[in-house]
Amino acid sequence: MRPDTGRKEKGMNWNHNIAPLLEKGSLTREEARKLLACAEEKEAVKKVTEEAVKIRKQHYGDKVFVRGLIEFTNYCKNNCYYCGIRRDNSHVSRYRLTEEEILECCASGYKLGFRTFVLQGGEDGWYTDDRMVWLVSQIKKTYPDCALTLSIGERSREAYQRFREAGADRYLLRHETARQDHYERLHPKEMSLANRKQCLYWLKELGYQVGAGFMVGSPGQTMDSLVEDLMFLQELQPEMAGVGPFVPHHETPFGKEPAGRVDLTLFLLSVIRILLPNVLLPATTALGTLDGNGREKGLAAGANVLMPNLSPLQNRKKYDLYDNKISTGEEAAECLSSLEKRVAKAGYRLVYERGDFAGRIV
Ligand code: SAM
Repeated sequence: MRPDTGRKEKGMNWNHNIAPLLEKGSLTREEARKLLACAEEKEAVKKVTEEAVKIRKQHYGDKVFVRGLIEFTNYCKNNCYYCGIRRDNSHVSRYRLTEEEILECCASGYKLGFRTFVLQGGEDGWYTDDRMVWLVSQIKKTYPDCALTLSIGERSREAYQRFREAGADRYLLRHETARQDHYERLHPKEMSLANRKQCLYWLKELGYQVGAGFMVGSPGQTMDSLVEDLMFLQELQPEMAGVGPFVPHHETPFGKEPAGRVDLTLFLLSVIRILLPNVLLPATTALGTLDGNGREKGLAAGANVLMPNLSPLQNRKKYDLYDNKISTGEEAAECLSSLEKRVAKAGYRLVYERGDFAGRIV
């Protein structure tokens, strides 16, 4: 079922429905429900977008931060129904970069100007806590001026603590959906929403800049689950939010499901920018995959981060989370100058600084 944001309430007063977000910058459940019902109202979307862009400008000016994404392993012990690298997809050609190869990616990224590296991968048991600690310390020792983000799924609190002590600064762990029934629709029963959330709270306690987030239009998503996603983000107050459209992968149980809507994703990016004014908000690869101008549209909706791919060229196609995932052209770290031009043409400035969270407004 698709989110029924299209259903118009009779005589809906959209001005009234967007007012709480614009006036207080926060939402109750009921206010969130009414706000999302405006997703089809052109004028309402325009107003929310304008406010989001204004807020992004206040906090980050025209800066768009780049992060060098290193997809270092596509082995995964999990079997998420939406994900192309799920354990049971036997068509995946599995790869794992060695520690040396990862360090080489960082070296070439550093030369290109990157000052943030994001190590992302499936939940790969070969990369034990000890190996990750070694890797994190090596990267931080070699590039003390760089921020290091991990995105390697659910581990123990102790593991997160060790990675943090070794120098990891940030951690991306999308919650995927904040509703229990929807979580169960997207994941096999050995996975649990409670544990996912617990991990996010541990990461926060340990002083990481934390990124949560969800896919837009994943199978089973309803208006209620989107409302819960907004409520959860509001409660967690993450420093980053990864929100992009669901894109089907033909070798998964959701292979025949429709992709998420680009326009709804953009509206949600704007809403999140207003709810969490300082948040670091990527215009995701999935958005760029569904729409050739997806990244520019994401920036125009309030996003302020891009994550070009720094993985070795021969591995990129294998980190195939969904069909037609882009990994070359402006998506590739080696094409930064053309990305810079595109971003400038859209009215923003690509910057290479670490781009830490701008701090909370009190
Ligand atoms: N294993 C880590 C984790 O679980 O957080 C990081 C890797 S995981 C592949 C990164 C993100 O890819 C997930 O959080 C999910 O939201 C996104 N993703 C996976 N399959 C997708 C799909 N079919 N469409 C859009 N995004 C997808």
